Amino acid sequence: MVQTEASAVTPFRKKLNRPLPKDPINVLQINLGKRCNLACTHCHVEASPHRTEELSPEVCDQLIEVIHRFPQIKIVDLTGGAPEMNYGFKPLVEAARATGKQVIVRSNLTIYFEPGFEYLPEYFAKHQLRVVASLPCYLEDNVDKMRGRGVYDGSVRAIQWLNQLGYGKDPSLILDLVYNPPLPLTETFSLTPRQDKLEQDYKMFLKEHFDITFNQLFAITNLPVGRSKFHLQRTKLYAPYLEFLESNFNAGTVEHLMCRDELSIDYLGNVYDCDFNQMENVAAKSRTGGILTVSKLLEAGTLDLIDEIRTASYCYGCTAGCGSSCGGALV
Ligand code: SF4
Ligand code: SF4
Repeated sequence: MVQTEASAVTPFRKKLNRPLPKDPINVLQINLGKRCNLACTHCHVEASPHRTEELSPEVCDQLIEVIHRFPQIKIVDLTGGAPEMNYGFKPLVEAARATGKQVIVRSNLTIYFEPGFEYLPEYFAKHQLRVVASLPCYLEDNVDKMRGRGVYDGSVRAIQWLNQLGYGKDPSLILDLVYNPPLPLTETFSLTPRQDKLEQDYKMFLKEHFDITFNQLFAITNLPVGRSKFHLQRTKLYAPYLEFLESNFNAGTVEHLMCRDELSIDYLGNVYDCDFNQMENVAAKSRTGGILTVSKLLEAGTLDLIDEIRTASYCYGCTAGCGSSCGGALV
């Protein structure tokens, strides 16, 4: 159990009353680096255009070897920063698609209008990447407040571009959108709205106003990690927010947590149970107690070296209400 800060919440492991077990690995989530064309207020990665940390050619080659050697990996999930801006994006996409894996690209949409990245929508369609794109609200004001002026307009144009290529229409070109709530400013917290209802609202509004279509909406809870944590600490809402999340703990989400069957890899090749643990430097532990890296996985010849997932108080964000993950609600 790792505590990031003193608070009144029950230690997460105690809440579960047992260790959180790791299942066989199916998902390889790679965080390619911290460079991004945006610098959103809620970003748990603290990404921005000024960050320079990114995958090295050596770690990229090791990851390609992992992709080739382990057919148990069904999904390669590329994130960042803007994954498209960081070293290794295309080699990883092409290695994973050549071995028949589903590739998810977590895209901020506006990157397609940056010089040198205009090729991306056609490239995504050519390789049939599943695009999971942030659009934290269907209303312009809320998006621009969280992500920067003009981001809503750019996102709408980018989705229209993807739609023209068949995304959201052709069954092999999946486009999902991601909602996350604004950061709280007072102690009046609320849970992320019901995903199915919100999806209907998004679909109706975006179709009517912009003739946009997409597949699913993922409603995600803000975990107190990265810039969200700094905001909560600054506004003295960190402890009350954790207490609120704990008071909404739903044991039914635990079997479905995304950390159960995924490995999260950072740009240095270190292994974590999820991207949040990665950002908080909570490294995954092998059953012998050692810290894991991609080269150690290759040496061992197996991905299944973790018995217990490392948890922290922010895990209450994944288990509150309907639950939350990179794929949206859990139950
Ligand atoms: S939330 Fe996404 S788009 Fe925004 S700064 Fe972070 S990585 Fe970039
Ligand atoms: S933050 Fe969420 S995904 Fe990560 S270890 Fe905790 S419960 Fe699992």
